[in-house]
Amino acid sequence: MISVRRIRREFATAILALLIVLAAAAFIGRPRIAAAEPAFSSSHGRTIVIDAGHGGFDGGAVGVSGALEANINLEVARLLRTRLLESGARVLMTRETEDALGETKAGDMAFRKSVIEQDGVDLVVSIHMNKFRDARVNGPQVFHMPKSVEGEKLARFILMELSRDTGKNKREVHSENFFMLRNTKAPAVIVECGFMSNRAEEKLLLDPDYQQLLADAIYNGIERYYGAG
Ligand SMILES: [Zn+2]
Repeated sequence: MISVRRIRREFATAILALLIVLAAAAFIGRPRIAAAEPAFSSSHGRTIVIDAGHGGFDGGAVGVSGALEANINLEVARLLRTRLLESGARVLMTRETEDALGETKAGDMAFRKSVIEQDGVDLVVSIHMNKFRDARVNGPQVFHMPKSVEGEKLARFILMELSRDTGKNKREVHSENFFMLRNTKAPAVIVECGFMSNRAEEKLLLDPDYQQLLADAIYNGIERYYGAG
């Protein structure tokens, strides 16, 4: 026979157990929300242009397996956009679909220029994948406009994060008078995420997890650039 008191005690124990489970669930759920919305982000309120290189009739570099650079650029650009939006940045994408931004290469580039030269743009990141005749060459590279102190600083932070997170050989940043670097007053970088001419790296560049790693590293580089400023 079970006494009334014992039933009450068991009922109380069951209620207590339920409360513990609910409290634990709430506690476990909390860090995930905190991770998606950082308490403080240095990119908050900044207007950042993300340029996914190439597109449409211009597929960019063709990898060892036949993959097109333009598509990988867009994937990484979209992932970076998500990170920046979560941090409270304002994001302008030059290209949001697989299509080109004009009928011709000149028209396409003119459209990109019209986006990056606008007043109020705080920073420009152009995403590309590389190719080289020597298939052994691999790893990320970051370019900035010659004599741009801020561009070089931004390039260094992004390359630092990329080199560490990819585990690839650390390079120096490069300066080049590229179209997407010279047509904006804002600090601008071209990020060459890796070499599609290297079979192993091309495979990585096509992997969604690696694309996320690249986007996170670029995001962290931008955060460090603003944090250091
Ligand atoms: Zn390219």
